[in-house]
Amino acid sequence: MASCASEMKNTRGMSEQVASFMRIEQVTRRFEMRPGAFESLLHRLGVGAGPQFVTAVDNVSLNIARGSIFGLVGESGCGKSTLGRIAARLLPATSGRVIFDDIPLDDGSLTPAALLRLQMVFQNPMASLNPRQRVMDIITEGAIYHGVIARRQRTDFAVSLLAEVGLSADAAFRLPHQFSGGQRQRIGIARALSVSPDFLICDEPVAALDVSIQAQIINLLLDLSRNRNLTMLFISHDLGVVRHLCDRVAVMYLGQIVEQAPAADLFANPRHPYTKALLEQAPSIKAGRRAYRPIEGEIPSPFAPPKGCRFHPRCPVAVERCGRDAPPQTGDEKHLARCWLLNDGSR
Ligand code: SF4
Repeated sequence: MASCASEMKNTRGMSEQVASFMRIEQVTRRFEMRPGAFESLLHRLGVGAGPQFVTAVDNVSLNIARGSIFGLVGESGCGKSTLGRIAARLLPATSGRVIFDDIPLDDGSLTPAALLRLQMVFQNPMASLNPRQRVMDIITEGAIYHGVIARRQRTDFAVSLLAEVGLSADAAFRLPHQFSGGQRQRIGIARALSVSPDFLICDEPVAALDVSIQAQIINLLLDLSRNRNLTMLFISHDLGVVRHLCDRVAVMYLGQIVEQAPAADLFANPRHPYTKALLEQAPSIKAGRRAYRPIEGEIPSPFAPPKGCRFHPRCPVAVERCGRDAPPQTGDEKHLARCWLLNDGSR
């Protein structure tokens, strides 16, 4: 898998020269949390706090180059899936905007056909595939509805899509529960491809699969990105997965991007202590770790993120200033990180 991925990266390196295909500009998403019965009662009696908000995504900006695979990595609950849903237009941003191929996604001028160019692949295909529908219907109904194909073309269309994702023609006549997890993910990918997108948002597409199957799905995504010239936002909690797939990687912690760089640079020269900790915990044959080990210390509550650097309660190299002031993002345009230790005279 690694050699295949590096071949891909050599070809894909050129894509970094071209303009952004998607720009995520200062996007923030806040959620109001529903109060429990007791809190509601207190509120009605005029005591207790008002509504509580959680900031899942906090002022995030990213540029995704056309034809590239962009990795977004972080622990569970860091806001990466929320950001993916905003990029897929499944969720509005509270502030900020997403520009897709030079058009803001919230622009009313975007036609339904233009929006089809943006598709999502979900983590759990069993939950996103209708268990009562045959695969034929699952992977063709969107294309028929949107006029991509005529109904009479659907058998040929389904067979060709299934072949593209590595499934045989007879799969078209079966139900989702008759497939393994990896095969179901292939069906989910075929459904996303059915409307000929040029941007795929993959939200933890291999997290629920065995390691050997993960490699197969990753190779499939690499082949598809090359053959169809797809751009991808690939969301994962596992830096090891992203390493073999992505051209550029952003690391997210408690709603903020703490580091972003070309993948080769990030893995060879991680700058942020959180990225270093993630790398140290990733599965490694050399280090004898067969599974991902969580980083020490609890992730702070997103309701009350720590003052200063959000990583400071877990950071092994924190200095006094870290608990007081939030570090700015520094570095050059290619490699950015948010840590006081990267700033001269920070202590
Ligand atoms: Fe650690 Fe301080 Fe850097 Fe935050 S700013 S990552 S606490 S050293």
